[in-house]
Amino acid sequence: MDAHDIRNAYLDFQRERGHVQIARANLVPRGDGSTLFTGSGMQALLPYLLGEHHPDGIRLTDSQPCLRAQDIEEVGDNRHTTFFEMLGNWSLGDYFKEQQIRAFFAFLVDVVGLDPTKLAVSCFIGDEEYGIPRDDEAAAIWQAVFAERGIEARIATVGSQADGDARGVAPGEKIFFYDSGENWWSRGGSLLGTPLGDPCGPDSEVFYDFGPDHHDASFGKAHPASDSGQFMEIGNQVFMQYRREQDGSFTPLTQRNVDFGGGLERIAAAALDTPDVYRISLLWPIVETLSRLSGASYEADPRPLRIIADHLRGAVFLAVDGVRPSNKEQGYVMRRLLRRAIRTAYSIDLRDTFFEEVVGQIADLYENDYPEIRSAREEIVAVLLKEERSFRRTLEAGLRMIGGYAGGTLTGEDIFRLSDTNGFPRELSIEEAERLGIPVEPDWAAGYDAALRAQQERSRGASHLGAADPA
Ligand code: ATP
Ligand code: MG
Ligand code: MG
Ligand code: MG
Repeated sequence: MDAHDIRNAYLDFQRERGHVQIARANLVPRGDGSTLFTGSGMQALLPYLLGEHHPDGIRLTDSQPCLRAQDIEEVGDNRHTTFFEMLGNWSLGDYFKEQQIRAFFAFLVDVVGLDPTKLAVSCFIGDEEYGIPRDDEAAAIWQAVFAERGIEARIATVGSQADGDARGVAPGEKIFFYDSGENWWSRGGSLLGTPLGDPCGPDSEVFYDFGPDHHDASFGKAHPASDSGQFMEIGNQVFMQYRREQDGSFTPLTQRNVDFGGGLERIAAAALDTPDVYRISLLWPIVETLSRLSGASYEADPRPLRIIADHLRGAVFLAVDGVRPSNKEQGYVMRRLLRRAIRTAYSIDLRDTFFEEVVGQIADLYENDYPEIRSAREEIVAVLLKEERSFRRTLEAGLRMIGGYAGGTLTGEDIFRLSDTNGFPRELSIEEAERLGIPVEPDWAAGYDAALRAQQERSRGASHLGAADPA
């Protein structure tokens, strides 16, 4: 099954189980100024998880496009993208742990075809201080579903994540207990003191185990919650079952909810038995195009191709959802994605315009499942091309100026001026100087900082003068 099939099979599977498929939320949350982007399927459903009546009932499902600007520095690794789709299902006071765990396991094994021996799970270890028991209920359900497939799922580390780091995984261990840093969800306290209290509860994450060959020992011992590469988190199920009171105590909720979120790209990668999400059907064609256009080899260095593919895909969805490049808020993030894509392209010698072809390809990959892309297609292309043209002008001007330093040395002050006056990114100044064989002052960063400080002083001085002058 490719990624597209998995998305559709998931929605079919959940509809057969009585869920109503709801419309996805916009990437820009409506009526919620607390965050720039929709970063999970749950976000738009929070009012209903907190008790409001949902017009479509108590079993809901969707595939929610998400954008996590906070993951931008991770992009380039094998598993994080700023934009991704989160498969979601919710029970609003209906089924609970048993049905949820069974259904997700059945989806992964019977529908997607994952090898159940390669799955591992985590549950909440409990908290004595607060009187919350270990989630043996979830663990017992997991043991039962594995046992039904003839797999003895042994309970692994009884301890914390720190124990996991110290001990690693022994053969046959499948169920890991972690503390509240990993396996506890709460709303963050803002409802404390209201009649709702603060809903919270344990969660249970599911990981795909790529085996010890994928373990990078520099991350310590392999266990699901470490980033060693052996395990990849593919889904998370939150069991909202407590209410935290103002005095810090916890009371069981009468309406218990399930919130499930699974990464489509990650499940699709597991289906290919590859730890690289860029190998899936929704990303690999983009990577191949970029590789062809630039001549850069993915095998030699996947990072630049991953960054460009991810950032353009995210920017396309932002454009579909009405965001336009600008200097603030969502528009700023979008501009950053686009400019970073272009800068990264320069770094692999992709210096011709390339948005039109790649953006068109991204639209092709998604427009059957997201008809809003088809109807806005021309406009999306126009928006992105406009930003490409304007940033390329900046870059070209900067590149010409750097060429002017041939025969001399590029100093930190020069690099500052290029960035401050011409908007030319400093990393690119250095790369370009190296490309042209122009020496860069060894301690350029100090010169850069000094020039930056001097400029800040000047502008502070200017505003003091302004303030002192009532006219
Ligand atoms: P990770 O620990 O890998 O950063 P997470 O715990 O932050 O993931 P959740 O908030 O639990 O992720 O989101 C639910 C699911 O969404 C994850 O299990 C994962 O499959 C997927 N997911 C989360 N972040 C990303 C991302 N940046 N790129 C792709 N998929 C993601
Ligand atoms: Mg994360
Ligand atoms: Mg995680
Ligand atoms: Mg998680």
